[in-house]
Amino acid sequence: MVNKEREEISCPVGLTLVATPIGNLADVSHRALAILQTADIVLCEDTRHTQILLKRFGIHAKLLSYGVHNLKARLPQVLKKLQEEARIALVSDAGTPGISDPGAELCRRAIAEDVPVHAVPGPAAFVQALVLSGLPTSRFVFEGFLPHKKGRQTRLKSLADEPRTILLYESPHRLMKTLEQLYEYLGNRSIAVARELTKLHEEIVRGKLTDVIETFASREKILGEFVIVIAGKDSKEKS
Ligand code: SAM
Repeated sequence: MVNKEREEISCPVGLTLVATPIGNLADVSHRALAILQTADIVLCEDTRHTQILLKRFGIHAKLLSYGVHNLKARLPQVLKKLQEEARIALVSDAGTPGISDPGAELCRRAIAEDVPVHAVPGPAAFVQALVLSGLPTSRFVFEGFLPHKKGRQTRLKSLADEPRTILLYESPHRLMKTLEQLYEYLGNRSIAVARELTKLHEEIVRGKLTDVIETFASREKILGEFVIVIAGKDSKEKS
């Protein structure tokens, strides 16, 4: 990274959603670093987590936490700063802010208040998982996390007739339950489970749902971050 290149780009007035790596820090873009370096404030989910990225690239930024725990209190404070023409960069713990994280609400409110909103593109876990899955990529539907309790069955039932490739985010402790329920509601579809993308233990487990369930059931521990990719109803493509 040549510092001069970074100096030529600076954070614009308003809110800039900055995509950061989903694991491998080398995936950060030059533009992302330049924006983080020149922002008045970098909003992040976890300051300790974002500090690792900033430290790696020698960036000193004013960090402010913006997460599920303090969203209500932070939102008016941040909107006020944006109305005063601050240059604010928003990052999430991983990937593109606004995808299955609290950034979406801030972005929506900023747009409603006529604040300029920009985005610096970069990694998103579901895109990586989709292209690595071997399942059809021409039409797909991203469902984020399934509801934990209320609405879970209804969502699963609605997915049973979905013809497009389906993408879900899942945590390690819910993986088995979700795979079993997908089998129950969708049948023995082709599936790919992407684990720890771009990290040291990256792994894609592909096959029929029963095979993939068997693979994970045989493990002592299920660790890491997961994206589940499932073939749509009557998908013609073989996995
Ligand atoms: N904003 C992020 C994005 O652009 O992908 C996602 C944020 S969401 C709160 C976190 C979820 O994304 C994780 O629970 C996991 O399902 C998925 N995820 C994030 N990083 C991942 C990785 N390296 N490998 C697999 N899944 C990942």
